Amino acid sequence: MCAFFSRPEPRLVLTGDYPLWDEALAVVNRDLAATLPDQRPLRLIAYADSADLDEQVFVALSNGEAHGNSLIPAEAQSAAEALMAVADAAQETVTERLWRAWPLCTVHDLGMHPRDTDGRPSWWCAGGSRHGDPAHVRAAVGELDTIHRPRRPHRKRPKDRRLR
Ligand SMILES: [Zn+2]
Repeated sequence: MCAFFSRPEPRLVLTGDYPLWDEALAVVNRDLAATLPDQRPLRLIAYADSADLDEQVFVALSNGEAHGNSLIPAEAQSAAEALMAVADAAQETVTERLWRAWPLCTVHDLGMHPRDTDGRPSWWCAGGSRHGDPAHVRAAVGELDTIHRPRRPHRKRPKDRRLR
């Protein structure tokens, strides 16, 4: 099964072709590195359609496999819009191509989705099924490392004060 059987070979999108999507993907790749450290970074690929259409750009795994809808330039007028779109596409590609929910909420073990939270793209979890365990925002997109990685060793911690 291949969604692209009728398409021509993809083009690897060059840095600078789509600056807003480049920046957004770099942010999302931070979350990928924090949560799936064995995965190589996601990248943008493009398929040139027929001559009267713009090329279609997808968020793909490092091996070029993508899933879901292409990114839409008209929906990437700002950095926040671009990040929402790229996070959504990345979530779709990783989930479908690696066959695993991603990114996971470490509290509920559920796959999260990007949501606009006061203008800031964030990872949203549907929450637990029990009453009192509501949907919640886990972290801003690009900041999952604050959850998945231990605190930086150079961060100052209160020292034990022991009397000698
Ligand atoms: Zn959760």
